[in-house]
Amino acid sequence: MKAAYYQGNKSFFIGDCTPQSPDIGEVRIDVLCCGICGTDIHIYRGHMAERINPPQVIGHEMLGTIAEIGDGVEGFQIGDPIVVRPLDSCNHCPACKAGYRHICQNLNFIGIDSPGAFQSSWNVSAQVLHRLPQDMDMEIAALIEPLAVACHDVRLGQIRSGETVVVIGGGPIGMLISLVAKSKGASVTLAEVNPFRIDLAKNLGINAINPVEEDLEKLRYRYNRWCGSGCCV
Ligand SMILES: [Zn+2]
Ligand SMILES: [Zn+2]
Repeated sequence: MKAAYYQGNKSFFIGDCTPQSPDIGEVRIDVLCCGICGTDIHIYRGHMAERINPPQVIGHEMLGTIAEIGDGVEGFQIGDPIVVRPLDSCNHCPACKAGYRHICQNLNFIGIDSPGAFQSSWNVSAQVLHRLPQDMDMEIAALIEPLAVACHDVRLGQIRSGETVVVIGGGPIGMLISLVAKSKGASVTLAEVNPFRIDLAKNLGINAINPVEEDLEKLRYRYNRWCGSGCCV
């Protein structure tokens, strides 16, 4: 089995990965695929050197199946398709006890603070697993973690059906935010300068414009106003 190890200085090497029996409360996962997050690019560029311990396996936008189940783990079967929520909380600090495990004071961001998913065989705590339907398109499933980011952003924006939304930047997250906002019934315009991304967005049914060629500011006259509240008429 193989793993991609980040060794610092903008380089990886491919090495062996030996499957380890899961500890109590853990499962061992056969990783099927793993996306490359913007966070992984930051690590590659050396922006998170103080949190990385090379040679280290990184990555967290993954999809896999359960290969082995440790003692004390309930509710999962070998072979279950799963994704991992990469935030592993301690469950005993004040934040965790108050129900805010995502801001745990001892938060382990898996794939940064501990080994990640760029490896064939990976052990993680069972508390970060999400089981998938058996009939799900498995390649799409690797997008669940960034899609969750987009859903969170659209929820924070309190976007409602009929509102006009402008998304600045058509990277993977901007693209997913556009799709989620559209699914909420918003009229979405995505501003992006990269022609490849503009084409990709259009193929996904997103109204994408290049603000270098088209004046984004003037678009508000086409829509009459940016938002439904009248603040920016
Ligand atoms: Zn990510
Ligand atoms: Zn905690």
